Amino acid sequence: MRCRNCREKAVIHMPAHKLALCGSCYISWFEGYTERTIQKFNMLKPGEQILVAVSGGKDSLALWQVLTRLGVNTTALYIHLGIAQKEYSDTSLAKARAFEERLNSSLIVIDVAKELGMSVPETKRLMSRKVCATCGLIKRYYMNKTAADGEFDAIATGHNLDDETASLLGNTMEWRLSYLKRQHPVLAERPPGLKKKVKPFCYFTEKETATYAFLTGIDYIMTECPYALHASSIEYKNVLNALEENGAGRKRRFYDHLLKAQGHLAFPEEAELNRCRICNQPTTLSVCSFCNISKKIREIKDKKPSAISRQHSAVAEV
Ligand code: SF4
Ligand code: ZN
Repeated sequence: MRCRNCREKAVIHMPAHKLALCGSCYISWFEGYTERTIQKFNMLKPGEQILVAVSGGKDSLALWQVLTRLGVNTTALYIHLGIAQKEYSDTSLAKARAFEERLNSSLIVIDVAKELGMSVPETKRLMSRKVCATCGLIKRYYMNKTAADGEFDAIATGHNLDDETASLLGNTMEWRLSYLKRQHPVLAERPPGLKKKVKPFCYFTEKETATYAFLTGIDYIMTECPYALHASSIEYKNVLNALEENGAGRKRRFYDHLLKAQGHLAFPEEAELNRCRICNQPTTLSVCSFCNISKKIREIKDKKPSAISRQHSAVAEV
């Protein structure tokens, strides 16, 4: 197959776009498409300071690079979750650090174990919550807090079309209306203090971001987070890939139809936000969920020091 632009040998064929491109044309197309997605959804304004959430994976590092190449003012944030299995957190931090040097940009690192007194996997043993639920809450908290403290205008995440449609399928199957209402490529800032969030890669599939990362030599962590293996999103992605296989463009249409429907459907009113009386971050409660977790950790540690140290040393498996 030949590149549609220059007739060189194509490296990627994208049936959903009815497009085949060679390596260099693909890189230009990918970066241009990101720019057009940003404009389509009016995600960013000139001069805004953007905090890019990076995990050391292909999507977030590619996003950091593309935004930088498009001239956006970026700083990245890496949240060290303390996942020791397969040295996941240390390796992904090393990838993010190396990329910081390559881009000559800057990276803020938050170490959850130091900040909270407990790594993310340790919270599972001590608080009988699902690791991913606590992890998501912790990540959202630090992203927003870092963006607010650093006076950033928006947080950019590397969510791609596969992530978005997998969430959409999960939310639809459970009819989580409040999630369906808020699932959008751009979420405006909400007072008091909930920062704008944007997803400039929402129209790229995983294969497309992986191809871009490969062609531009991005060194990213290939291992999945060990906890992702148990996530239902993997199951949803498999279902959606099978549908896409039999009908190119189905994922994109599924997502676009949600965005169109959002203007017409009646969703429940969103609860009002106020400030957490402990940490001052936005929440619908009087004390935010993060402060509740943090209080619980302190209580457990104060009460049962010996049990904690035994459990800490035993935390290795998922
Ligand atoms: Fe956190 Fe779960 Fe994602 Fe791993 S898979 S990074 S534990 S939310
Ligand atoms: Zn709080």
